Amino acid sequence: MNKGGDKFTFKISVVGDGAVGKTSLITKFTKGRFQKEYIKTIGAQFFSYEEEIDGNYFKLLFWDIAGQDDFNFLRPSFYKESKAAIIVYSLEENDLGQESFKHITNWHDNIKNYCGNIPTVLFGNKVDLVDEKNLNDNKVLKIVKKRNFLGYYRTSALTGTRVSQGFHAIIKELYNKFNKSRSISQ
Ligand code: GDP
Ligand code: MG
Repeated sequence: MNKGGDKFTFKISVVGDGAVGKTSLITKFTKGRFQKEYIKTIGAQFFSYEEEIDGNYFKLLFWDIAGQDDFNFLRPSFYKESKAAIIVYSLEENDLGQESFKHITNWHDNIKNYCGNIPTVLFGNKVDLVDEKNLNDNKVLKIVKKRNFLGYYRTSALTGTRVSQGFHAIIKELYNKFNKSRSISQ
């Protein structure tokens, strides 16, 4: 890691209903790849991940909210200054799958409320529990288009399917934004 290079820190909020796999996804992506920091707070925790792109040193802070309503008062500080967001729902064919799908737009409204129009990626997680051949993306892709999400990924924190791809969609977008703002300011 080139610690002497430029260093940029981005906060990324990871949201979605409880038990859809937020913590598992962040753990899968950050664990063992780069140095991991794990700090548990009340109602939320964050994971740090470092990556060097073209000699620029990036630090990403993934904020992982605990879904409990008791901690609603923490929401504003949870979202504050987020530069991007990941919304997770579950592809499971049960109540959790259906409810978490319905709540995608609520989570996105929350993000827009607190952060404005930040790049947002959608994960349909636990794809290992369903047969991908039987999935129909029409409904979800309508939301993706209407809400202008950066992308949609069917992921599995268990097998690792598309986890890196999904996270890197966000990282690449932040990198491009950073490059653009740097070339304007020079
Ligand atoms: P969170 O509440 O959104 O942070 O969800 P967790 O990461 O705690 O995961 C909830 C439960 O789902 C745990 O028992 C996980 O082991 C399980 N889980 C998470 N992701 C996956 C996945 O991709 N596939 C399967 N089969 N189980 C998962
Ligand atoms: Mg969790």
